[in-house]
Amino acid sequence: YMNAEIITVGTEILLGEIVDTSAPFVARNLANLGVDVYFQDTVGDNYERLEETISLAEGRSSLVVLTGGLGPTEDDITKLVLAKHLGLNLTTDEKALTKINQFYQSYELGKPANADIMAKYIEGSTVLPNEKGFAVGMFLKTPNCDYLVLPGPPVEMQFMFNKYALPILAKLTHGNAVIDSKVMRFFGIGETELEKDLKPLIDKQTNPTLATYAKRNEVTLRITGSEKTEQDVNSLIDEMVKKVMEIVGQYFYGWGDDNSLAKVVVNLLKEKHLSITAAESLTSGMFQSRIGNISGASEVFPGGFVTYSATAKEQMLEIPTEIVNKYGVVSKETATYMSQNAQSKMKTDIAVSFTGVAGPDELEGHPAGFFWIGLSLPDGEVLTKSVNFAKARNEVRDYATKTGFKMIY
Ligand code: ATP
Ligand code: MG
Repeated sequence: YMNAEIITVGTEILLGEIVDTSAPFVARNLANLGVDVYFQDTVGDNYERLEETISLAEGRSSLVVLTGGLGPTEDDITKLVLAKHLGLNLTTDEKALTKINQFYQSYELGKPANADIMAKYIEGSTVLPNEKGFAVGMFLKTPNCDYLVLPGPPVEMQFMFNKYALPILAKLTHGNAVIDSKVMRFFGIGETELEKDLKPLIDKQTNPTLATYAKRNEVTLRITGSEKTEQDVNSLIDEMVKKVMEIVGQYFYGWGDDNSLAKVVVNLLKEKHLSITAAESLTSGMFQSRIGNISGASEVFPGGFVTYSATAKEQMLEIPTEIVNKYGVVSKETATYMSQNAQSKMKTDIAVSFTGVAGPDELEGHPAGFFWIGLSLPDGEVLTKSVNFAKARNEVRDYATKTGFKMIY
């Protein structure tokens, strides 16, 4: 493809009621395929303006991706507008129609009058099934321009993009070559820093390509390669992984789009048959809550402590008042006592403690964002670490939680 354009359809995006996550998702994936996105448009659920946008897009882009407006309500007009604009008819995908009918048979509110439109596609296009919903997507080739049409709900859109649209686009951009990618996850290094460290690798590479992406205090790196066989592409990517690890391996913690530090750590503890508890001041349960998010957490986590005030630290964890008075709540000593006492009270193999300044105000002369973490190991040794992370309150708490997990990993 020469270049692509993404049109997100929906008045609620236009009005700022929801934040568009679809265009960034599609753009990132197209970038991985080596397709340049030159324009992104958002247009409301309006017939004339949508057609105007489509006309503009197809005049300047060879691939136009449309998301949203495939549902059964009156404001869902994307298929109708595109079909009319191209002078093509809509036909019905029988499989999708059967699924819709089956669902609404037992639906207490009855079948909406317009539900069948979700099974319709523009004649001549490839139907993209919707396993997470009802509205089918489509891929349509025309002499000037190709159209990819996907539903609005991100869960449906992303699933269909990955499963059905990507292979079609990959074939068009890379022919019969096998494309594969691996996602590496990092914590403790910023995106700018990671990019700077990897610059020699990123600059030189066209195959595989390296793309970084920052989200919630973490950075992911997607390595995408294309080769004749699966085996070749795997070894191409693995070689690059090795080079990346040599440079920034200390920040690496796991693989894949759908992963987290909590998941990696809980699984590691399960594997090693180690139990864990926590004493949380700054993070007030965020660390333990994230353990609870992971299935099988009960195998490693009996429970723990949320001790926000000095009184709670004294009553629940028996931290001597003298320690808090002498060294401060936010101190290496308090962090050490917190993790040690939590460990001995819960009789776990390891324990983590968090104490710090969430902000916005400073505390005990420490700036907002400063915190201590204690990690008690099975042999009784306690590791401590202080961090100064000058960001907004909840970013600090998130960062501290993840720092705790990373210390275990
Ligand atoms: P539905 O059958 O749910 O109506 P649809 O294909 O018609 O599906 P829309 O009506 O455009 O999709 O959007 C449905 C919902 O999906 C929106 O209310 C919004 O919550 C979410 N959504 C749509 N587009 C986006 C987007 N670009 N970014 C994030 N969320 C979106
Ligand atoms: Mg809709």
